[in-house]
Amino acid sequence: MKPPPFQYHDPKTVAEAVSLLGSLDNAKLLAGGQSLMPMLNMRFVLPDHVIDLNRVEGLSGIKEAGGVLEIGAMTRQRDIEFSDLVKTKCPLLHQAIMQIGHRQTRNRGTIGGSLCHLDPAAELPSVAAAHDATIVVAGPNGQREIKFANFPVAFMTPSIELNEMVTAIRFPLWSANHKAAFVEFSRRHGDFAIVSAAVLLEQDGGGKISRASVTIGGVAVAPVRATAVEQAITGQVASVDLFRTACESCRTIEALADVHASADYRQHLAAVLSRRALERATGLGSQAAVH
Ligand SMILES: Cc1cc2nc3c(=O)[nH]c(=O)nc-3n(C[C@H](O)[C@H](O)[C@H](O)COP(=O)(O)OP(=O)(O)OC[C@H]3O[C@@H](n4cnc5c(N)ncnc54)[C@H](O)[C@@H]3O)c2cc1C
Repeated sequence: MKPPPFQYHDPKTVAEAVSLLGSLDNAKLLAGGQSLMPMLNMRFVLPDHVIDLNRVEGLSGIKEAGGVLEIGAMTRQRDIEFSDLVKTKCPLLHQAIMQIGHRQTRNRGTIGGSLCHLDPAAELPSVAAAHDATIVVAGPNGQREIKFANFPVAFMTPSIELNEMVTAIRFPLWSANHKAAFVEFSRRHGDFAIVSAAVLLEQDGGGKISRASVTIGGVAVAPVRATAVEQAITGQVASVDLFRTACESCRTIEALADVHASADYRQHLAAVLSRRALERATGLGSQAAVH
């Protein structure tokens, strides 16, 4: 299959890319191309212009400052996978990256591309939701920030304007000894998840949970924070029974139905996987070692 004809643009700066976005009709940004190229080849998108971000300066890199991990939009998933900073400071992101596609797709695929593509089952949007990440966007009027909770507006549609682009993602970090687990169910390793669960926890010395974040991916058009589970376990001592009871509330999350799974099955997976993620994060239960 071949992509439809389009005019190719190769900007070198963010300002140049933004100016092209503002002046060209029906333009698409190209990051790692791991989603855009198949969509072009299958004629799901028919842009007149493709603006390549691969040579734009200053869009890649991982740095930590003031309790926040900032990752440039064009940072390859493979670089995140091998980052010691990510592994130690943001273990949920490391675990999630390991479940995205294959080495070959991670070599090219970027964090910004995945967040903007916003596949309901993608792993990175769930990590962004779990960490209450901030998306940094550049446009004709300069820079603005969007809380990830307000980033998805509809199916595979982020809340950025046609003349804007994502430049970075900021993950507020949890305490040094927080616990994290990312668990998903997919048909084959490397496939998108049907449903996933991302968990962040902080516990006091007695094992009592002082802070919790539980996010379910793949059930709806965007990741859903399981706030009922978060509330039920906060202030409680972690235990298999506590998690089993609390996660039952995931069966009431409004769920998508499609060719891959029914809504009922997705709700069932949400309950099971959130429990497994909590057990894995705390080292409890028989599911602690299950991938
Ligand atoms: C075989 C295979 C398996 C895969 N498995 C998984 C998986 O298990 N989980 C998963 O999450 N993903 C999976 N993917 C998708 C992969 O992670 C992609 O890398 C990702 O979805 C898109 O990132 P990209 O950098 O390739 O973006 P591109 O494909 O280049 O772009 C994707 C979209 O984002 C827009 N965009 C890109 N960058 C920006 C920006 N900075 N600002 C604004 N808009 C932007 C583009 O215009 C386009 O609409 C898989 C892909 C393949 C080919």
